[in-house]
Amino acid sequence: MSDSCCGTTTIEIERFPLRQAGALPVVVIGAGPVGLAAAAHLAERGIDFLLLEAGEQVAASVARWGHVRVFSPWKYDIDAAARRLLESDGWTAPDGDWLPTGAELVDDYLAPLAKLFGDRVRLGAKVTAISRLGYDRVRTPGREAAPFLIRLADGGELQARAIVDASGTYTSPNVLGASGLPAHGEGEVAVDHALPDVLGADRDRYQGRHTLVIGAGHSAATTLLALAELPDTPITWAIRGGGAGRAYGGGDADALPARGALGTRLRAHVESGRITLLTGFFTHRVTATTEGVEVIGRDPSGHEQRVTAERVVSATGYRPDHSIAAELRLDLDPVLGSTRRLAPLIDPNEHSCGTVPPHGVDELAHPEPGYYAVGVKSYGRAPTFLMATGYEQVRSVVAALAGDWAAARDVRLDLPETGVCSSNLAEAQERRVGLATGISGGLLSAPIPLATVGASAESGGGCCG
Ligand SMILES: Cc1cc2nc3c(=O)[nH]c(=O)nc-3n(C[C@H](O)[C@H](O)[C@H](O)COP(=O)(O)OP(=O)(O)OC[C@H]3O[C@@H](n4cnc5c(N)ncnc54)[C@H](O)[C@@H]3O)c2cc1C
Repeated sequence: MSDSCCGTTTIEIERFPLRQAGALPVVVIGAGPVGLAAAAHLAERGIDFLLLEAGEQVAASVARWGHVRVFSPWKYDIDAAARRLLESDGWTAPDGDWLPTGAELVDDYLAPLAKLFGDRVRLGAKVTAISRLGYDRVRTPGREAAPFLIRLADGGELQARAIVDASGTYTSPNVLGASGLPAHGEGEVAVDHALPDVLGADRDRYQGRHTLVIGAGHSAATTLLALAELPDTPITWAIRGGGAGRAYGGGDADALPARGALGTRLRAHVESGRITLLTGFFTHRVTATTEGVEVIGRDPSGHEQRVTAERVVSATGYRPDHSIAAELRLDLDPVLGSTRRLAPLIDPNEHSCGTVPPHGVDELAHPEPGYYAVGVKSYGRAPTFLMATGYEQVRSVVAALAGDWAAARDVRLDLPETGVCSSNLAEAQERRVGLATGISGGLLSAPIPLATVGASAESGGGCCG
């Protein structure tokens, strides 16, 4: 037993018969598009793996926004290894130029892909914590050889040789409170998650009810435009900014026409009075009343605004939850919550999604060898993520896990100058539910020049947000 200054507290793990970490499976957390793509690459390389999905179906988060149509056509939504595996099983890819809904992504691609992996995909398996067997975050000697220990919500534990964490951000939305802290009373009153299916399954919850939408991203816009189609439904839209100009975007001059059209429609509803816009609204307190929910905004000078609505939709974006990896050694960028090496490549002040350079295992590595956060989680709070970038991430990470460092470091992205996250087709295809990426931050922001991948954008902003 090794001595610490205050006693012999550390476990001498070497005394216990351990299964060699190298003989253990790679565990992938989350069966969304990127987790499933990781599984496809692992399968292709013949590496044993287990895919743990918290939901009761694959791509449970995508399924929650199943009614929303994405900006990227099918040709950018399908991972190359997944395509090869599916096609060898007789699958035919959907029309590459079509913009799928979330539900189509699941039904026509992700669910058939997961089926190929059989019982290597475990549903209802929510990971609550990851550590190294016998090692807390502080202990170093022999650490790298110790297997990962994964704890599940049902109390079960598993071991792994490496972890590919593709658990996304959709299940950890930003709070309503304007300073990044929960508003007083948040959690005690009913607030709806972003992107309810206003014109479909959730219609009865909104029709005829005064609804307050808080947030200035694509999710807010999608919900507002859908609400505007419901008769006798008063709508209030609260944003922190002093005006909605940034949210309206460039209109006819917008580099992304479908996005510009959304902004134009939103502006028209505000100007006609169909939507009541509250600017400078810093959500401070939410309280349940007999009429619904009273929401109080208090700006930094102390000025208050109050609104009472029957339904409140929180569309304030998402953030990564790193708490499951709290016992691992992570090196997180203090602003975005991505790795520090990735942060400058995805910074929304510098990049739109179309200008994020390709990146892989080197940019995703943490001081904890063998743990990689990938997919939208890897971007932290940056709104510049695309499935296509996530697919290249996992191709690179899996190549590294296979010891193929040449392939791991040969990172490429084949995104066109335009057309990856917008299309006129979008507006034509999707009149009913609108367009959304669900990505937070500056919806429909001023025209964003999409440039060839690798070139830096002239102005920043999220591609889709
Ligand atoms: C409305 C919307 C539209 C979008 N449109 C586009 C687009 O047009 N083009 C584009 O490229 N990108 C788009 N995105 C962004 C992004 O590509 C998607 O969010 C994509 O689903 C991210 O994939 P992912 O696999 O990283 O994460 P997710 O799809 O979020 O998958 C994460 C999975 O992990 C599971 N999970 C979470 N926590 C745990 C846990 N503790 N244990 C086990 N499992 C867990 C979840 O249930 C989920 O199934 C859009 C996003 C949204 C929300």
